Amino acid sequence: MNSRDRRLGMHVAITRRDFVNGIGIAVGAALLPGCGRPGDPVAGPANAFYPPGETGMRGAHRGSFEVAHAAAQGQRWSPGAASEHYDLVVVGAGISGLTAAYIYHRDVDPAARILILDNHDDFGGHAKRNEFTYDGRSFIGYGGTMLIEAPKTYPEVSKQVIRELGIDTGRRAEFHHDDLFRSAGLGLGSFFDRETFGADYLATGGLGYTEAIEKAPLSSEARRELERLFADEEDYLAGMTPDERRDVLETLSWREYLSKYAGIGEEVLAYVQKWPHGVWAIGADSIPAWMAWLQGYPGFAGMDFGRGKPHSEDAEYFRFPDGNATIARLLVRRLVPGVAPGDTMEDVVTAPFDYSVLDSSDNLARIRLESTVVDLRHRDGKLDATVDVTYVKGGDAHTVSADRVVWAGYHSMLPHVCPDVPAEQVAALGASVRAPLVYTNVLIRSWESLANLGVDRVFCPGSFFQNVMLTHAVSFGDYRFSTSPDEPVILHLSHIPLEPGLPAAEQFRAGRRKLLETPFETFERNVRDQLGRMLGPGGFDPARDIQGITVNRWPHGYAYSVDPASGDVAWWPEWWPHDRRPWVDARQPIGNIAIAGTDAASNAMTESAIEEAHRSVHSLES
Ligand SMILES: Cc1cc2nc3c(=O)[nH]c(=O)nc-3n(C[C@H](O)[C@H](O)[C@H](O)COP(=O)(O)OP(=O)(O)OC[C@H]3O[C@@H](n4cnc5c(N)ncnc54)[C@H](O)[C@@H]3O)c2cc1C
Repeated sequence: MNSRDRRLGMHVAITRRDFVNGIGIAVGAALLPGCGRPGDPVAGPANAFYPPGETGMRGAHRGSFEVAHAAAQGQRWSPGAASEHYDLVVVGAGISGLTAAYIYHRDVDPAARILILDNHDDFGGHAKRNEFTYDGRSFIGYGGTMLIEAPKTYPEVSKQVIRELGIDTGRRAEFHHDDLFRSAGLGLGSFFDRETFGADYLATGGLGYTEAIEKAPLSSEARRELERLFADEEDYLAGMTPDERRDVLETLSWREYLSKYAGIGEEVLAYVQKWPHGVWAIGADSIPAWMAWLQGYPGFAGMDFGRGKPHSEDAEYFRFPDGNATIARLLVRRLVPGVAPGDTMEDVVTAPFDYSVLDSSDNLARIRLESTVVDLRHRDGKLDATVDVTYVKGGDAHTVSADRVVWAGYHSMLPHVCPDVPAEQVAALGASVRAPLVYTNVLIRSWESLANLGVDRVFCPGSFFQNVMLTHAVSFGDYRFSTSPDEPVILHLSHIPLEPGLPAAEQFRAGRRKLLETPFETFERNVRDQLGRMLGPGGFDPARDIQGITVNRWPHGYAYSVDPASGDVAWWPEWWPHDRRPWVDARQPIGNIAIAGTDAASNAMTESAIEEAHRSVHSLES
């Protein structure tokens, strides 16, 4: 180990799972109170496997994706004799698959026997929970799906499910510490890194052209451009008709628009490049200018180009400590009796989940994890017949049969495992691409360094992690957020692997490849280096202050549909310019197989996962 790594604390025993030559070994877990031998989960019921307490590489963890990749590359498993029969088999235990099972019991047959299969070792799909235990206390974070965005705008069927699960978003004020950071003088900062901007510098004081940005390592020309951009008062398309403006905004990326029409140079373009990463998982080079306008990014001076913006008054978020993993946990608590005590949205936050009963034959609904579906076909090729579902678990193939199936996995995989998909639907299913994302949670000893610097969120335009923020300041039931800066807290860091310059869909594919090749060690070194440089002036020492790291990698993250001919991405399906909507063609039921999931809406949001589950279940009835 070199001296730099030593300074960063790469040798320090924390809760993480390292991989040495492909063999997983837990390092340091035994040092933490409440932890058993190395390799044990760090939280949860004693001696039981408790996936949210696992640290190190999570999300698409080792063992979860290899079989699916083999299937996509042509490996085949023939169905054997079915060992079990179900009324419904659901492929995918994400929010969509779990909701499909819930709605099937609610609307179709309360006595139905249902099996839900998922390739991961935990349920929830993207909606995953991360836990750390430190000094005898649990800290809960979100490994994926962050929050319920704008619940008032949810489609009615999704609102209904949320309500039935006991989530009352109207009680938000009881749980959210909305003023905690603001009242302590904390706000948004920007970290300029020396590799991109020539010097490390943290600008505090909020979004906009602040006094601190005036001192940033930028040329005076770039400073004036940034000031002009933030002021956002100039109409760069003055003199054009609405149609001409529309043409500009619909043909250029935001970056091209800023360069060509707003006269913004490379330094400021480097500053804004990763701006859209958090919400769209793509950079300024590929997000269309009209999307930047829609998002309210600067450069448009309130421009009207003949299209109305959606209303944003109802856009209040609702957050649980583990993000929307709480929705998944509430669904599982409804589906699987005995898995967890309690019956409210408050008590589910700390309710212990007993994973050993998920697949109990005593229950009507069973959840079978670490099971990748590799073959799905109607018996004798007859589309009104029983469906045989073959999955691989622990290296062995098993077949179960079902009257009906809901596919709530990825669209693009279905044609690889289901010979019954009609040829024209194969192309539509293949039009779905997924953007890769990484959500990293870092448990730190205290948030004093952030308080000293006056930041609760930092945008890092040139760094490995483009965003660093204190996790959700919310308290539910027995779970209390660390409201005092001297208490431990989870920092949330996000990284979007892309390949700027390529068309968006190709960037996603290239990013996915990069992501699967990036070892945990690289993430850890970047966590330590970036936090040390950024928060060091506030007293942060990565070797001393970092207590645990969980990297949630999502190679198949946000769902988007792509027009095969033009390469256009359906960023905002309501404004799709083409006649054919590949995601609609793709989601048509195939005999007794219905299709759910966010690919079916080209909209990677929880409300779509729920809405598509509802649609898919009811498509089986007709
Ligand atoms: C990092 C991240 C952050 C997000 N944040 C938000 C947010 O804040 N708010 C919001 O509303 N939305 C957010 N989203 C989007 C949201 O998570 C998704 O829209 C929604 O959870 C998707 O649910 P799903 O069930 O359709 O798919 P998924 O969650 O992807 O679940 C599908 C499951 O099926 C499994 N599967 C696939 N193929 C097979 C197979 N052959 N056999 C067995 N299992 C299979 C998958 O591995 C997965 O576990 C976020 C997404 C990501 C990736």
